[in-house]
Amino acid sequence: MPSLFISFISLSMFGFLATSAVAQPLDHATMAAIRNEGLRGSQAMDHISWLSDVYGPRVTGTPAIEQARVWTMDKLREWGLSNVHEERFPFGHGWSLQRFHAHMVEPQVMPIIGYPKSWSSSTDGTVAANVTRVEIQTAADFEKYRGTLNGKIVLPQPVREVRMLDGDLVLRMTDAQLTEASRIQVPPAAPGRPREQDRSSPSFNDRLQEFYLEEGVIAVLDRGSDSFMVGVGSGLPYQTQRTDGGTIFVGHGGPRNENAGNVVPSVTLAVEHYNRMVRILDKKVPVLVELNIEATFHDEVDAIGKLNAFNILAEIPGTDLADEVVMIGAHFDTTHAGTGATDNATGVAAMMEVMRILKMVGANPRRTIRLALWGGEEQGLLGSRDYVKRHFGDPQTMRLLPAHEKFSGYFNIDNGSGRLRGIWLQENFAIAPVFEEWIASLHDLGVTTLGPRSVSGTDHVSFDAVGLPGFQFIQDRLEYNARTHHSNMDVFERVQRDDVLQIAVVVAIFAYNAAMRDELLPRRVLPRVDR
Ligand SMILES: [Zn+2]
Repeated sequence: MPSLFISFISLSMFGFLATSAVAQPLDHATMAAIRNEGLRGSQAMDHISWLSDVYGPRVTGTPAIEQARVWTMDKLREWGLSNVHEERFPFGHGWSLQRFHAHMVEPQVMPIIGYPKSWSSSTDGTVAANVTRVEIQTAADFEKYRGTLNGKIVLPQPVREVRMLDGDLVLRMTDAQLTEASRIQVPPAAPGRPREQDRSSPSFNDRLQEFYLEEGVIAVLDRGSDSFMVGVGSGLPYQTQRTDGGTIFVGHGGPRNENAGNVVPSVTLAVEHYNRMVRILDKKVPVLVELNIEATFHDEVDAIGKLNAFNILAEIPGTDLADEVVMIGAHFDTTHAGTGATDNATGVAAMMEVMRILKMVGANPRRTIRLALWGGEEQGLLGSRDYVKRHFGDPQTMRLLPAHEKFSGYFNIDNGSGRLRGIWLQENFAIAPVFEEWIASLHDLGVTTLGPRSVSGTDHVSFDAVGLPGFQFIQDRLEYNARTHHSNMDVFERVQRDDVLQIAVVVAIFAYNAAMRDELLPRRVLPRVDR
């Protein structure tokens, strides 16, 4: 094999070529072993069942997420990972639901499908109250209702039309969508329905809450937002009909600060049950509802001074470049109505699998590979923001810490259980040839596309904010928008096993390749501080 011998000699004689000009070969043997373990030996569905069925929902600051943390950290230690620990951050009060029931009891009996909003107050035990429609758009409308709402349950929205299901509810990316994803042009805004009323300003909502409290309102029942959901921050203007039919998308209903619990109890109902009550009221027939909400507010700090919110960290130590870091992560916390199966037990399980697989195949990465499972994502990326600020730099001042220089890249999973189809470059164009080479061997797994756009909405943003390469993958959204995202039906059945296995394999290969290359991943220029 003379020619190979010659090229070996020439590369070692001019060693700088190997690091500066000649692409370093990928370790295909390890990549093959990763595939084999990830596709044939996967434990991902078992992790998801534990995280969702046994410990879900995992709302930050609750006993359930603490139980999930103990289970997860035991697993990570069992697999022989290093430096398994938690890092805590300030969050405010946690909230968990103890009991809920709601029945229409007049004019007929109907068990109501509904779910209290998170951080909702409790009712005073089981209460029965007449239901009334209010239309309050501005503070001026308060006067129309002053003195009329005492002891009432309020319905603040008009009937929402519910269409028969049609169109694409399960989103597998088509070739046309992948082509669209690979273009830099920002797509035109999707033709979403206009907001039915401007109630988004927090100051108005605060005043409305105050008004309800002053007036002695028993509870507020709503039917959620409009039935079309546009995928925001996902890089493409996905538009999906929501499934309705007993699936409810439940939001946030109160503060976590010292005012926690000082709001009117609020519940989101299945739209069909909400609409029925409005139609009865329109006929001047009274509606009586019996309601019980029992919620617990958990202290931010426990008796021994421990904060109630945390990130979980674990590592595979590097070898010759051990002080440099590649990170992978997913948010560990969930919203409260389902069990957090697709948002984000899938992401957590896939990332846990990445670490397990790398250990199983005996990977010896040059850089340290660090797993992060974030808390407080659902309240605004709180865990990852805290971590980045504490370890890498402050996005407000762009004052950077020494570890910033030693950081290669962060890979995030958080868009449901669909397979990965590519990766968003976050407008880091210098990285395109690197990822191009990596995905070349992943085409058969469906990973084909580099999307130049910046996407937002999840924890890679915290890294991006201080100029560190942080990435979210292009992912099939499946039923994420139509059925599972922040709904009561975000449950185990919605997880697609084959897709989750693919996620773990692809991320493991990305993390391993990033940890093995000679250089850190290319970066964009540092963000400017605007003052
Ligand atoms: Zn999520």
